[in-house]
Amino acid sequence: MVERARSFAQSKADWIAERLQKSTRLATPFQPGAQIPVRGRWTMLTADDSLRVARLVNGQEAAIRAPTRDGLFAARVLRLLVAQARLDLTARVQVHAELVGGPTPVLAVKDTKTRWGSCRQDGKMSFSWRLVLAPPSVLNYVAAHECAHLRHMNHSKSFWDLVRKLDPDMQRWRLWLKEHGASLHRIGAKSP
Ligand SMILES: [Zn+2]
Repeated sequence: MVERARSFAQSKADWIAERLQKSTRLATPFQPGAQIPVRGRWTMLTADDSLRVARLVNGQEAAIRAPTRDGLFAARVLRLLVAQARLDLTARVQVHAELVGGPTPVLAVKDTKTRWGSCRQDGKMSFSWRLVLAPPSVLNYVAAHECAHLRHMNHSKSFWDLVRKLDPDMQRWRLWLKEHGASLHRIGAKSP
């Protein structure tokens, strides 16, 4: 069962990756009609002026519905994605921090340019909100990676052994980020 769940997650991640490569060589601004990946699903951005804030709808077709008032459609979509990233990261960090036996870390979600996550000596963590655009397994790997730093403040063999214990498929998700990280950075960027 675990194996089946794993291969399902992997085939889904492959599909997201393929489409990312095709469709996001150019910037994808947050505007009605655009499609962006959210938690491993292609999600349609849709104008809905009956709403007050943006909402993620996970029906048969995934959508983010947001009001366009005051020209703030893109800002509302971004706010929703940052909030969702914070929720997802908090949940995974809690799980891994408990396994590592550390205290529950305080985390910040930002638009980091060069790193997907970081962990300070005092246990404070920062993550890129863009991880919510990747398949959930990728976000989970970055959470596991930073939690392993609660025990090892380096990238020693013991560190990587611990990451592998927290996430046996870590190598795959690490590569996924190397290959597709740049595409994630073009999502929500303004048109050139
Ligand atoms: Zn690290």
